[in-house]
Amino acid sequence: MREDTFEDTFDDEDVAESDLVTRRGTFRAVAFRADGHEHMALVYGRTTMRENVLVRVHSECMTGDIFGAMRCECGDQLEAALDRIVAEGGGILIYLRGHEGRGIGLVAKVRTHVLQDEQGLDTLDSATTLGLPVDIRDYTSAARILKHLRVLSVRLMSNNPDKIKALEDNGIEVAARVPHLMRPNQHNIGYLTAKRDRMGHDLPQVDVFAAD
Ligand SMILES: [Zn+2]
Repeated sequence: MREDTFEDTFDDEDVAESDLVTRRGTFRAVAFRADGHEHMALVYGRTTMRENVLVRVHSECMTGDIFGAMRCECGDQLEAALDRIVAEGGGILIYLRGHEGRGIGLVAKVRTHVLQDEQGLDTLDSATTLGLPVDIRDYTSAARILKHLRVLSVRLMSNNPDKIKALEDNGIEVAARVPHLMRPNQHNIGYLTAKRDRMGHDLPQVDVFAAD
């Protein structure tokens, strides 16, 4: 990434940072205000002006991340990303707010759960049946945050080609995609299958689970 792209950063009043001691170790916690939301980057080790920084851009999911819901894989992915960043000795996790239910919000997401449970609709049809979009997540803020943190290029932990394209379209150099595959369970295998077959996510572990 060219250095002049780093000019697109945040006003001081919209950023604050401190150390954050966690069970896994000490991160630099950088909080941002952007697009009507507050996001956070957890930075571990040295990442400034580095190439190939290990990065996870994580969409918030209250049910999965906080409550450990098994109907999606979000909570597992969040934990595994932090584990991997610490294991490698450096990396960044960006936690994006405003991404509940791929952008439809918490109430609407729970409404889709009703349709999934009562009518057997998948994660896409349950949204469109309610007249809602399947995925309206915006990654502009994630790109701005990576520029603010002065990362030269990233290795992105993701199975979602759309996310790579969105970051690249916003000026982030994605040097590699790191598969971020979680073990399926009986509660999320349908969800994962729909994401693989209908959203183009690269999820080879789904077949392995089906064959077990
Ligand atoms: Zn989730």
